[in-house]
Amino acid sequence: MIDLHIHTERCGHATGRMEQYVEAGRARGLEVMCFTDHLPMPEAYPQHYTMRPEEMPAYVGDVMAASTASRDSGGPEILLGIEADWLPDAFTEVERAIAAHPFDLVLGSVHFLGDWAFDDPDLVARYDAWQPDVLWERYFDEVANAAASGLYDVIAHPDLVKKFGSLPTVDPGPWYEQTALALAEAGCAVEVNTAGLRKPVREIYPALDLLKACRRRGVPATTGSDSHAPSEVGEGFDLARELLVEAGYDSVVCFRQRVATEVAL
Ligand code: ZN
Ligand code: FE
Ligand code: FE
Ligand code: ZN
Repeated sequence: MIDLHIHTERCGHATGRMEQYVEAGRARGLEVMCFTDHLPMPEAYPQHYTMRPEEMPAYVGDVMAASTASRDSGGPEILLGIEADWLPDAFTEVERAIAAHPFDLVLGSVHFLGDWAFDDPDLVARYDAWQPDVLWERYFDEVANAAASGLYDVIAHPDLVKKFGSLPTVDPGPWYEQTALALAEAGCAVEVNTAGLRKPVREIYPALDLLKACRRRGVPATTGSDSHAPSEVGEGFDLARELLVEAGYDSVVCFRQRVATEVAL
């Protein structure tokens, strides 16, 4: 299978060097691995979630070198990606930062609602200030905006709002439809991300019903572990495949130079 969402120690909150991730992916029999460490954010945003701007050339160089080394030792194929936050007030800066390097894949992630990084375990107390239905509405509106921005190839962990178990009191179906429609209209893929299995919610992102809605709209899917340690590479992929099959998918897509190609499941 293909793992298109992998971090390294460069972002400050993951452990392990790139070679260790590649080694782990090879041991798991992955065909493709795409590194997607966190793109630096403009100065007005917190700087401790991402790589430092001055690290970007070294990150890109490391991935290129890992790609060559892995090819010479029989695989897996290594791709250059990035995980870029959706920051509605910094569209131009993010667009420019993405354009500065020859990425194969750009993941778009909603991690912020205003100034709140709602997926940060240190900031979970702020959930108390939100009625869950209002929170979900706001979150999925940002996901639709992120998809429509045209900045991204894939929307990562598309229902990340459930991470700490904040669940709506109403049927989330309309938000799922809205998300699937936004992805379809934008030509954006949806990520099946196994990191949720390691989080309090103990579920893959997205929920089956959201993935089914994507499938009905013809939205392509990718798979990613969102590894923050080498041992997490390709983790939970048997369950990811099951979920995809249950939603009606028989293939996923891989991105090279930001162009999608189909890969059988
Ligand atoms: Zn991270
Ligand atoms: Fe993320
Ligand atoms: Fe990530
Ligand atoms: Zn992520």
